[in-house]
Amino acid sequence: EIPISNNFIRQQVLDDRASGKHDGRVVTRFPPEPNGYLHLGHAKSICLNFGIAGEFAGRCNLRFDDTNPAKEDLEYVESIKHDVQWLGFAWSELRHASDYFAVFHLCALKLIKHGTAYVDSLSAEEIREHRGSLTQAGKDSPYRSRSVAENLDLFERMRAGEFADGAHILRAKIDMAAPNINLRDPALYRIRKVTHQNTGDLWCIYPMYDFAHVISDAVEGITHSLCTLEFEDHRPLYDWCLDQLDLGNDAELTAPLRASGLTVNVSRPQQIEFARGNLDYTVMSKRKLLALVQDGLVDGWDDPRMPTISGLRRRGFPAAAIRTFWQRAGVTKQTSVIEYSVLENCVREDLDANAPRRLAVLDPLRLVLTNLAETHEESLTFSNHPKNENFGARSVPFARELWIEREDFMEVPIKGFHRLAPGSEVRLRGIGIVRCDEVIKSDDGSIAALHCTLDLDTRHGMPGADRKVKGTIHWVSARHAVAAEIRLYDRLFDVPNPDNDDDGKTYRDHLNPNSRRIVSGWVEPSLADIAAESSVQFERLGYFVRDADSRPGKLVLNRSVTLRDSWSK
Ligand code: ATP
Ligand code: MG
Ligand code: MG
Repeated sequence: EIPISNNFIRQQVLDDRASGKHDGRVVTRFPPEPNGYLHLGHAKSICLNFGIAGEFAGRCNLRFDDTNPAKEDLEYVESIKHDVQWLGFAWSELRHASDYFAVFHLCALKLIKHGTAYVDSLSAEEIREHRGSLTQAGKDSPYRSRSVAENLDLFERMRAGEFADGAHILRAKIDMAAPNINLRDPALYRIRKVTHQNTGDLWCIYPMYDFAHVISDAVEGITHSLCTLEFEDHRPLYDWCLDQLDLGNDAELTAPLRASGLTVNVSRPQQIEFARGNLDYTVMSKRKLLALVQDGLVDGWDDPRMPTISGLRRRGFPAAAIRTFWQRAGVTKQTSVIEYSVLENCVREDLDANAPRRLAVLDPLRLVLTNLAETHEESLTFSNHPKNENFGARSVPFARELWIEREDFMEVPIKGFHRLAPGSEVRLRGIGIVRCDEVIKSDDGSIAALHCTLDLDTRHGMPGADRKVKGTIHWVSARHAVAAEIRLYDRLFDVPNPDNDDDGKTYRDHLNPNSRRIVSGWVEPSLADIAAESSVQFERLGYFVRDADSRPGKLVLNRSVTLRDSWSK
């Protein structure tokens, strides 16, 4: 069970349980449309819905909101299931809104028979004109006064496929002068002659989101229907549908579900809105993320720079860090943008506790210990975690030639540089103190190697082992090291709000050209068989994870985060 901090929704649930509303039950749902991969924003809704249900021994369904036939894909369905489970949650039931098509249809017929829905034959453009605006009341459609019989006939013929897309729509008959535009006779059903991935060509009329959603909630027995703030103005329509349909007292409406073997326990759900989660330096809309994928601006939905769950996973962000992030962000009605570094800090915290330590060199420079024999070889024991003995220890091979980080040497050291320089000393982690005697240059003048002597008196167990020098650097044995392609990532966008188009630019104009840098490094041999998706800390360098592009003989690692926040000044 994942703990959640208190928030106004949790408080509402506590109050409802205290007052006996919904018989004390808590049933929620996460209702993604399967038209893309889930992103970090969806994780907020997932943590909230599953978290609330989990805390109160309730239920949370995963419901595919698949009422829109054109844009949906099985690949998305599978990825969504995987991502929800990976985030650490288990749904009570897996549902598809398309399972309820027969119920939506019966509900539409009920409204028509009650005179609270009608078939309109205006064009989309005319409907827009009739709708009015915030300052101007709408106008009734000339078709608004059609008789019940005529509406039933037309709706049946819409369903039978007699009309082209857009020829007619079914609208709720509410109030064209309502101050809330959502109540100005909203569309309930439209004609779409498109094959649906679940129901094939069985239907050529499809319900609108608002109509399908509230009915789906009610028939699943949802008690608290949590959604984002842009639906606040739709709540009166949500409640209008519940009032008009009275699903709890009309068993005929849900008969198709019982006939198919489902137990139906209808509720009167309450819609509660909360603010979307936003992160800076990124975009979080499936439509925009899809465009990045389709236009090849990233390598795919799971590109480690993407804010998708699959991208974050591939980047090496632990599920627990994502849950902690949303727990700390809280749930409110105030829209805000959270800094990327807050997410990275959650990742660091988790990996600091859970990632074993290893040694690697990203920008190698050869260092030769001239006072050791060519054949010298040792096995040193390194602890896997400085703060947790349970991680145990491993052996790390050590020989005469090592790789060190190029930036740990300066031929002409600047003031305060405490690492290696000609004639100076540094401690090699776990080995002892070395002095740089000679800088070996290539023909082009670049530095090819350093010749050093190891002060044998400073080795473990020797009298000089505690002798102090200012710097300690890491290394790997050149002969034993495993080559690795290492991918270093930066923000995908180079401005905090890439969605802001005030400057006449769009998010596509703000892609950070340096968001990925690939280097060839060397890692200690224990990394050769590192498991997929498993994370390590490379001492002094950051947290890294094995990438799915790894093949036998070709190790690929992603840097998840650096050790410290290098972004905030
Ligand atoms: P997008 O704009 O990225 O397509 P969406 O809301 O259209 O998002 P859905 O598949 O409908 O995508 O989302 C499923 C659920 O996730 C919805 O209940 C929605 O409110 C919620 N959700 C989507 N984005 C966020 C976000 N940034 N923060 C919190 N909840 C979100
Ligand atoms: Mg949506
Ligand atoms: Mg959407």
